[in-house]
Formats: sequence, C-alpha cells, structure tokens
Amino acid sequence: MTQPDCSICKKRDAFFYRQYSGQKLCKRCFTQSIETKVRGTITRHHMLRFDDHLAIAVSGGKDSISLLHILAKLKLQRPKTKLTAVTVDEGIAGYRDEALDVAAANCRKLNVPYHVVSFKDLYGFTLDEMIERARGKGEKELTACAYCGVLRRKAINTGARQVNATKVATAHTLDDEVQTAVMNIFHGDIARLAKEKPVTSQVSPSFVQKIKPFCEIPEKESALYAYVKKIRFQDTPCPYAGEALRNDIRAMIDLMEQKHAGTKFTVFKAIERLRPALEATAKTEGFRTCVECGEPSAGDLCKGCEMLRHVR
Ligand code: SF4
Ligand SMILES: [Zn+2]
Ligand SMILES: [Zn+2]
Repeated sequence: MTQPDCSICKKRDAFFYRQYSGQKLCKRCFTQSIETKVRGTITRHHMLRFDDHLAIAVSGGKDSISLLHILAKLKLQRPKTKLTAVTVDEGIAGYRDEALDVAAANCRKLNVPYHVVSFKDLYGFTLDEMIERARGKGEKELTACAYCGVLRRKAINTGARQVNATKVATAHTLDDEVQTAVMNIFHGDIARLAKEKPVTSQVSPSFVQKIKPFCEIPEKESALYAYVKKIRFQDTPCPYAGEALRNDIRAMIDLMEQKHAGTKFTVFKAIERLRPALEATAKTEGFRTCVECGEPSAGDLCKGCEMLRHVR
C-alpha cells in the first residue's frame, strides 16, 4: 500500500504540486496554506488595524470571491473589524448581471453587507454606452478596458467612501501585480511602478487606502481555492476580453514561471526592493485634486474625468 503523500500532514493524498516550493498538498493543507499566507501578508505589510472598516471590492470572479470568503473567515477572529462588499456595475450587457447575482449570493451566505455602485449612476452612462459614444466620435486609441480600469478604480473609491470604509481590499493576485509591474516597466512609468504596491499611500483625504491581501497568492491558487471550497463564482469571460498587451505579458511571464519556478515571486520581490528608489524619483510629481470631481489626481483633471469628457 502506498503512503499518503501530502508534504505537510502526511495523512492525506496530495492533489496539487506547488512547483515553486516543491510541496505536494492535500486539499485541506492547501486551503489552510492559502489562508495562512493571506494572514501573513496582512501582518507583514501592516494592512489592517484591529478596528478597520474594510470595503472588499467584489467583482464576482474567482479571485474576489475567494478573497471575500477568506476575509470573512478572518473577521471571525477580529470582532472589531467590519466588512462590507462593494461591487461595481460597469453596465456590460449579458455579463455583469450574472456577476452581481454571484456576488450578492456569496455575501448573503457569509453575512457580509453588500453595496453596489454603478457607472450609470456615477457617470451617466454604462460602459457599453461609453464605448459606443467613444467609437462614434472616432476614438480609436482607448480600449474598453482602458475606460473600465480607470473608471472602476474611481467607482470603488467612491463606493468605499459611501459606506464609510477606512480601507478597501482588492483581490489583485501575485500574477496581476507582476504583470502590472512589467507593463509599467515597458512604459517607463516610474510613478505607477512606485504607486502600485501592497498597501497604497494615503495621497489625499478623498482617497481610501487600498490593500492587496492576495498580492503573494498566485492566480492559479486563488482559483483552486474557490474550486476546492466549492465556492460559486462567475467564470464567463467579459465580452470586451482583456487588454492585448497584458495578455502577451501574462503569456510571457507564465512561460518563464514554467521554465523557472518562482519567477513571479522573484519579480515581485525585486520591485519591492527597488521601491524606495522608485518612490524617491516619483515624489517630485506629487498629487493634486481633480478640479472637476475632487478625487486625487496627478494633474488638474483626473484620468477618469478626462475620459468622461471624451464621451459626453
Ligand atoms: S475585461 Fe476589460 S472591460 Fe471587461 S471587466 Fe475587465 S477591464 Fe472591464
Ligand atoms: Zn495534508
Ligand atoms: Zn475627476
């Protein structure tokens, strides 16, 4: 008879080989390891005070729903921490409705209050309407994801303020962080390289500080967590699909990871080491307040308001 081969408990059979650590894990040890890693990230990066009111940005996809479940579990050990899920309804026909259902159902199950902010209410147009108008005006350079990314960030900040949250947690995974860093390197964008970090700096009073408890969790493992825990999430892809450049960078980094296990962690740690120098260089640019909406901004007008001017 063969011995159970889980590297941790040695009592159950492994179902997953974690290439970068060389461990074979059974389902229970795997899910526990993810929860322990998230707790470790939160502590190491000083992400939470005991009495924070944390808004969790929940899109309905695997990453944000897994994060919601883990933070709800963590909350049980931190009675003074308050959680509220914030979902942005961008207005993407045939896609977002299912995500809203999934997010609401998970929140009900976990007893987490749920708040929705919509592009239509905040900006006067759904994302579908914005794209149609932008195309009608001959805008070719900005993709749907460019509008969506900027305006969703702004909407999450507004939603977090509406529920009086002290911090907002997003489910950016290790993969997202590394892809974004490499994209910023490609663009030579020092300010964004410095800014995109596990705990964002408090740049203005209207900006709710953002934390990323999944920044050291590979995307594959956050998906696996949801499958093992049998958590319902939305897996239909968005009709606008991802940004072309990000997809290519993702494929390149995944290939590197396959050939050299641990590459993603290496890049993540490299950026962390470089950050003090990046911040010192980026500091000169400073932050102002958008003259139109009062949100934090690098120039007179924030990126979101600039985009909205295109479509109005
Ligand atoms: S794929 Fe693009 S348009 Fe669709 S939800 Fe993601 S960022 Fe928004
Ligand atoms: Zn085990
Ligand atoms: Zn603005």
